[in-house]
Amino acid sequence: MADATPGPADPALIENLVAANRILSREGVVDGFGHVSVRHDSAPGVFLLARSMAPGLVTAADIMMYGLDGEALGDDRRTAYVERYIHSEIYRAQPEVTAVVHSHSPAVIPFGVTSAKLRPIYHMSSFLGSDVPVFEIRDTHGDATDMLIRSPALGAALATSLGRATVALMRGHGNVVVGRSIPEVVFRAIYTEMNARLQGDALRLGDGRVTYLSDGEAAASMATNAGVLTRAWELWKEAALGGAS
Ligand code: MN
Repeated sequence: MADATPGPADPALIENLVAANRILSREGVVDGFGHVSVRHDSAPGVFLLARSMAPGLVTAADIMMYGLDGEALGDDRRTAYVERYIHSEIYRAQPEVTAVVHSHSPAVIPFGVTSAKLRPIYHMSSFLGSDVPVFEIRDTHGDATDMLIRSPALGAALATSLGRATVALMRGHGNVVVGRSIPEVVFRAIYTEMNARLQGDALRLGDGRVTYLSDGEAAASMATNAGVLTRAWELWKEAALGGAS
């Protein structure tokens, strides 16, 4: 085991992680599959992630602690998500990343399997930037995988593909989104799916030529959105947890 087991995380952080699971399910980013994690608030070599289950059903009692080797801490033998190495290897590679979402959000899938690039069609998705990377699992692991990130080596390859971007598409599988907080990563995951839906609509209209945000517009919009993030988060959290929070 890489780390001694730290104390429990801040209950407010766990509440937000439970809310994130419920919100992403309600918003159609995850379904029975997909997951969201957060780095421990006082132990940067540890992250929190639910046991293997549908995100829409997660409660505080389902949250487990993992080291950056992707293995559960302490004596926790509950079944873990096969793809937990997506989280462990991104946290290992990127100290500034605090939260990670992996999903198969449907509208994004076509952009991983065609020459159409996912680009910011409006201000809400400005965080996408002009170059969303596409992870090609065949580049490092051949053409007979089951597409899942089921080892640290696969997680590291994905983290390399992500680089400093906020989102990486996973060809024929889904996507991964990173952020500096739970509200930020949830915002980004929801608006990645929304952007993909709208961009698909726009590409099917007219002559297929779409005007995207410029780099300058994207940068300015990102700064503005950072200031109003909590407005969306409070709405989503109230809808997902109701009076429980
Ligand atoms: Mn997956």
